[in-house]
Amino acid sequence: MSEKTPKTMGQQFGRRSWAEPWKIKMVEPIHMISREQREQAMVEAGFNTFLLRSDDVYIDLLTDSGTSAMSDRQWAGMMLGDEAYAGSRNFYHLVEAIQTYYGYKHIVPTHQGRGAEHLISQAVIKKGQYVPGNMYFTTTRLHQELAGGTFVDVIVDAAHDPTSLRKFKGNIDLDKLGALIERVGADQIAYVSLAGTVNMAGGQPVSMENARQLRELCDKHGILIYLDATRMVENCFFIQEREEGYAHVPIAAILKEFCGYTDGAWMSAKKDNLVNIGGWLAVNQEEVFDAARNMVVIYEGLHTYGGMAGRDMEALAIGITESVDDDHVRTRVNQVRYLGGLLTSWNVPIVQPVGGHAVFLDAKRMYPHLTQDQFPAQTLAAELYIDSGVRSMERGNVSAGRDPNTGNNRYPALELTRLTIPRRVYTQAHMDVVAESVKTVYDNRANASGLKMVYEPKYLRFFQARFERL
Ligand SMILES: *Cc1c(COP(=O)(O)O)cnc(C)c1O
Repeated sequence: MSEKTPKTMGQQFGRRSWAEPWKIKMVEPIHMISREQREQAMVEAGFNTFLLRSDDVYIDLLTDSGTSAMSDRQWAGMMLGDEAYAGSRNFYHLVEAIQTYYGYKHIVPTHQGRGAEHLISQAVIKKGQYVPGNMYFTTTRLHQELAGGTFVDVIVDAAHDPTSLRKFKGNIDLDKLGALIERVGADQIAYVSLAGTVNMAGGQPVSMENARQLRELCDKHGILIYLDATRMVENCFFIQEREEGYAHVPIAAILKEFCGYTDGAWMSAKKDNLVNIGGWLAVNQEEVFDAARNMVVIYEGLHTYGGMAGRDMEALAIGITESVDDDHVRTRVNQVRYLGGLLTSWNVPIVQPVGGHAVFLDAKRMYPHLTQDQFPAQTLAAELYIDSGVRSMERGNVSAGRDPNTGNNRYPALELTRLTIPRRVYTQAHMDVVAESVKTVYDNRANASGLKMVYEPKYLRFFQARFERL
């Protein structure tokens, strides 16, 4: 690529370079299949990257969920699994790690994040209640709806604007929340569903100030706050970097303070916590804990394993301690920003500022000739795969789904294709290859013709929908 500037990562960001705080002990070979094979694989997958076989993928940026590389210490922990049905010693290690770093009192293990979302939604939401939150997440909102709740988006307006350079685009708009409380009454609000960082907005963070003020407002009205802590560690990095007074506070201390403004959290441990499977629910209220702990035996497993093997809980407990290491978080977020920086320097439209776990390509600006009904972000993901075998995913019209009351498409303001970076898996050279492929697809943007949906599942359609080229 002639445009590529021969600058090191450090030079790009105006400082001395630094490197990953680990070295590679084991490798997994990957290879790229031919262009004809990629074309055919995409057709067979119904132009849905979720339906590709991973053997047909070269660099897999579908998701950062369960795709992290575990450390040698985590793998060693796998050998220490206590596979007792009840009271496994690894469960107690997990409880201790969550209490130490997140600070909540009671823990219920689950097989992954949505298991915890199910429990908290069923335990706390009464039919007809509202659940305000800082932008929806697919599984989170669905569980809130299945429990009889109605999700209300109260995120700041800037979150819906991919060009806004505000530092904390994940913040809750307290005026919007105040207006909702006024309109429906505090009793009709199940809890505030706070996420850090906000996945669907592009991995955008919430400030400590916002959490503090939210706590004040909710205390005035007796409303609980539950945190989607899936990427809260990455959120803490942005607080450390951008918020006054936190530059010298360790990530672990920032995490503890932030969680302290909330009443509990659910976690997809497959993200921040550096394991391939696992999740947990943590709450401070005794009654909510009792309800969730009772329900977990119906849906997940006994309350001391919740669908995880003992060895998984051990790897998770170790993963939690590694995930709050300052060098680890800095490396992780800066790798994402390295990719974003390359694309920005080549004028590829992406969500700015670059978030914590992924670079989000702005398919609306990339393909202005396609309407949202032609699924520009889905199209872009398909084109990128065909160009280089890089797998990304849609976060736009397909992911947003239909309004359960009207049955109409939701047409979200953001139409994005997500390049999600697994933790500790790919090198800077992989990021270069990805960036160059995105540039090629961008240069050919006028030729993209869009897609039509030919199969639409009822729930979470983005996982299994099928498309054909227009
Ligand atoms: C992945 C994710 C979930 C759901 O967790 P799973 O482990 O996939 O079930 C919930 N919230 C956010 C923000 C997520 O990214």
